[in-house]
Amino acid sequence: MNKISPGAYRRICWHCGEPFLGRKNAVYCSKKCRESDVKLRLKEIRATTRKKRAARQAKLQADREDIEEILLGMPSILDPSKWIGYTPPPMLCSAWSGNYLPDEWRVERWLRKKTNLYVIFARSAARAKIGISIEPDKRLSKLKSTSPVDLEMLAVLPDIHPYYEGALHKEFSDVRHHGEWFDMCPKLQSLVEKINGCTA
Ligand SMILES: [Zn+2]
Repeated sequence: MNKISPGAYRRICWHCGEPFLGRKNAVYCSKKCRESDVKLRLKEIRATTRKKRAARQAKLQADREDIEEILLGMPSILDPSKWIGYTPPPMLCSAWSGNYLPDEWRVERWLRKKTNLYVIFARSAARAKIGISIEPDKRLSKLKSTSPVDLEMLAVLPDIHPYYEGALHKEFSDVRHHGEWFDMCPKLQSLVEKINGCTA
């Protein structure tokens, strides 16, 4: 860098590329060039952000379409016999459609998940609880100890992937009272009969 006079150096402007005289660390020939360059950089950053967002949206949309296809090929929610021992594709793992791909560990955990689905009935309230538990009988006695009304076990479906619970909650959302409690209806009654039919 040529020093012309104390404190003045020959520089090339980062923005317009013109030579100028300035301080040692000066990079712009003028305030105007600095402002234009900052604007340009901001514009670039915004464009990159926009591009990244669009790519993420496209990926989410593609995933959504794949998931729709997977759902179409899955056993009917109302056919419990098909769900015993069945593992839904890991793509249905809620983390999949988030902002990150599930790692191997997550997928493996999803594939290993097994539990029991239970339907507990509060006869006097005509409401049933659809839930999952490793030990459904223990769950029943625990619920009984805090419930003001009598509770009975209507059905237990063993060897079930926890995904099935959420799918059933969704299926019966129109008769959902609160939490995991659903108003007893013919459709739920029929599901209970089917569960007992395939575990008898
Ligand atoms: Zn300039």
